Amino acid sequence: MNFEFSDAERGFAEEVEKFLDEHATPDVADVTRENMAQIVDTPERRAFMGKLARKGWLGMSWPVELGGQEKEGIYEYILNEALARRGAPQIGKGVGIVGKTLIRHGSDKLKKEFLPQILRGEIEFAVGYSEPQAGSDAANMQLKAEKVEGGWKLNGQKVWTTSAHFADWYWVGARTDPEASKHDGISLFLIPMNHPGLEVQATPTIGNEITNQVFFNDVFVPGDYLVGEQGRGFRYISEALDLERFTMFTYSPSEQRLEELIEYVKETEVDGEPLVKDPIVRQRIAQLSTQAEVARVLGLRFVAAARDVSAKPPTIEASEYKLYATQLSQRIANAIVDLSGPGGQLRVHTEDAPMRGRGDMTYRYSVLDTIGGGASEIQKNIIARRKLGLPKNF
Ligand SMILES: Cc1cc2nc3c(=O)[nH]c(=O)nc-3n(C[C@H](O)[C@H](O)[C@H](O)COP(=O)(O)OP(=O)(O)OC[C@H]3O[C@@H](n4cnc5c(N)ncnc54)[C@H](O)[C@@H]3O)c2cc1C
Repeated sequence: MNFEFSDAERGFAEEVEKFLDEHATPDVADVTRENMAQIVDTPERRAFMGKLARKGWLGMSWPVELGGQEKEGIYEYILNEALARRGAPQIGKGVGIVGKTLIRHGSDKLKKEFLPQILRGEIEFAVGYSEPQAGSDAANMQLKAEKVEGGWKLNGQKVWTTSAHFADWYWVGARTDPEASKHDGISLFLIPMNHPGLEVQATPTIGNEITNQVFFNDVFVPGDYLVGEQGRGFRYISEALDLERFTMFTYSPSEQRLEELIEYVKETEVDGEPLVKDPIVRQRIAQLSTQAEVARVLGLRFVAAARDVSAKPPTIEASEYKLYATQLSQRIANAIVDLSGPGGQLRVHTEDAPMRGRGDMTYRYSVLDTIGGGASEIQKNIIARRKLGLPKNF
């Protein structure tokens, strides 16, 4: 497998960098928001997505008949990683998760309504799977969907719905058949976030950003806003999660943080000795740099395995990548805090802190990344069962 970019791909990467030099201004691009930098939560960030759309860079891998260009997934990868590296909004939920899942399973009506809006960068989604008793065990979701005339009535609660406070549409799993087995009783719905029966309450996180709880009070959903077939929602959610584990946990921010750490180590002296001469420090940096290369290649393996947008996304590659990349991000955060001494615990944006306090937010945020999208233990369970054929543990 060749992990080098072709001339055309390198040319595209350069074009993206030029675009970002011009448009990734501080009001839209901020690496200190860590992985939440990807969300499109301000008018400026929406306008930025509109610019990406006008460049024809949203949905490049999608089928031509649905508005895409049928380009290799590597172009989307190059774009998304370049955006993430600058802390700019990313193609995330719309292009990468909801759009691709609708392409495989949505009705013509839903495709016609949502895909063009996604391609124009006009629509933001929130994703609602988790509930108080359904995090790792997402198939245990209990949000109740009752059949009523013309559609469904939803009652219950979601937790951890990131983006619910600004999104336009909610991509939600609910239990449509309480008698069926837990995996077969779930269906997937699209609901406008401004529905009067939805109540959104902020949940602060250990990072400086929020996620949300959402309460459903007699939320009516017309029948044709059920995605795919009734009772098959958990299969669609599993596919969407494989896409999420790759698209929303980018590698380049880890590389960028590691580069900042290497610069810091090169220019800092401790007790009159350059830090860079300390053999323990050198070994730690060399090891992290090698691990960063492993994370990069695992990402590229996912891209290669996900070549066909109309096929099921690769589960094992998604879990291997997510597990390794997010744990590496934590190891880099630990190294930043350890090597920058007591000053490394100063808050982000503190002018005279080592790396302007970068360690603080990176350290706090990298914990969240090993939980959101499925915790590390769950990725290990998937690899153990699906790749190694080991028995199920729950
Ligand atoms: C910042 C952030 C954003 C999020 N955004 C969203 C969102 O937009 N939409 C959404 O639906 N969800 C979202 N989530 C929720 C996320 O998917 C869940 O937090 C995650 O799946 C873990 O579920 P839980 O929090 O209920 O923990 P639990 O499932 O209770 O797990 C607790 C601990 O037990 C371990 N564990 C659980 N089961 C097993 C097992 N079988 N084997 C071994 N270990 C196990 C877990 O790994 C974990 O360490 C978000 C979470 C975070 C932190």
